[in-house]
Amino acid sequence: ATFGTLSSRLTDTFKNLRAKGKLSAADVDGTVREIRRALLEADVSLDVVKDFTGKVRERALGDEVNRALNPAQQVVQIVNEELIEVLGGDQRRLQFAKNPPTVIMLAGLQGAGKTTLAGKLAKWLKGQGHTPLLVACDLQRPNAVTQLGVVAEQAGVAIFAPEPGNGVGDPVKVAKRGVAEAKTKQHDFVIIDTAGRLGVDAEMMKQASDIRKATDPDEVLFVIDSLIGQDAVATAQAFQEGVDFTGVVLTKLDGDQRGGAALSIRGVTGRPILFASTGEGLDDFEPFHPDRMASRILDLGDILTLIEQAQSAFDEEEAKKVAEKIAKDAFTLNDFLSQMQQLRGAGSIKKMMGMLPGMGKMKDQLENFDDREIVRTEAIIQSMTMEERENPKILNGSRRLRIAKGSGMTVTDVNSLVQRFEQAAKMMKTVARGGMPQIPGMGPI
Ligand code: GDP
Repeated sequence: ATFGTLSSRLTDTFKNLRAKGKLSAADVDGTVREIRRALLEADVSLDVVKDFTGKVRERALGDEVNRALNPAQQVVQIVNEELIEVLGGDQRRLQFAKNPPTVIMLAGLQGAGKTTLAGKLAKWLKGQGHTPLLVACDLQRPNAVTQLGVVAEQAGVAIFAPEPGNGVGDPVKVAKRGVAEAKTKQHDFVIIDTAGRLGVDAEMMKQASDIRKATDPDEVLFVIDSLIGQDAVATAQAFQEGVDFTGVVLTKLDGDQRGGAALSIRGVTGRPILFASTGEGLDDFEPFHPDRMASRILDLGDILTLIEQAQSAFDEEEAKKVAEKIAKDAFTLNDFLSQMQQLRGAGSIKKMMGMLPGMGKMKDQLENFDDREIVRTEAIIQSMTMEERENPKILNGSRRLRIAKGSGMTVTDVNSLVQRFEQAAKMMKTVARGGMPQIPGMGPI
């Protein structure tokens, strides 16, 4: 899971607080020390770590906590709020130009994921009714133009690329002509893909800066590979000096166990993270929500994203019904089954389950999750009567035994499914009502 290592370090820290009634100053200091160690190990920039732990310590020692019903949970809440802050506070949306087209320029090192991102962004915009034009200004890397052509085709959007022999080699001209083309052909968005190098170099920076001056973009997005760890800060600073940017896109978040780049970039550059890229496919892309990311790090479960993804995977009518049912506490095993059947393949289910609270701890089981697991779950639910599916509370021992026999599973399998379902339903309900989910393993308030 994203930020898995950081996540388990932090949740372990909080587990030690669980049993405490009041917190002594020593308890707070110990916790803050653990958090500091976890963040440093995650490659978070030292300045950001100092600032972060300073704030958490001050708030945790303050009245706020000792007046609380459950000081331990209060500390988690403080850490959650400070994580949201360090990730950028409120979500910042893409800025649109007053007079279209809105011009978005991408900058970053080679391999950061710019070209892939251009396709993701274009597909996402297209899905919202926009008509983006991709402009190929990476004329350095052999194949870059072809690669952009491929993603444009996958995304089903138009591309503007230099004709061989016609201005090839001058990315600034191509960029300007691309924007002009968008105006003539009435594209409302232009996405300019630029060249990167393996390391920061002056020539690349000048080229990017020239493209910026020539096209006056509404957004310059700095695309950064979140796996580069400690180098992220220096690279971001170099791009800020050389080109400057209005926002950040974190790529390869799917493989990021530590989260150092994500947690440092806002504090170091003052620029918000706008999007996250989470895989090689064009749909592995999402607007960045600091609050959701924070609760994912704390393993509170990213219920909101989960619900949203469920909504895009199901038809809208169905999604509305599910949301209503969750709010009314009427979400049944039947709904669970029909959701599973509607999802295509184990990949998306795995992703969704990874966002459920407490799942950070179940990584190994998730790794083994495959299509057969869906078949098994289906078999169990289908061996239940309608009444049992609608009201799992009536599932006593003899019913469970009958279901296990009927589906060819063990009673333990049946128990585990029912338990998972109940936890998910409860958690979803709390969130649908605007509450804060219980932290798994921390016990009731
Ligand atoms: P560019 O040089 O900046 O244009 O980078 P590319 O778009 O060519 O991406 C470099 C490599 O990273 C390609 O193999 C992509 O498939 C891969 N990639 C890009 N974004 C992601 C991501 O979010 N997750 C993963 N796992 N791979 C990615």
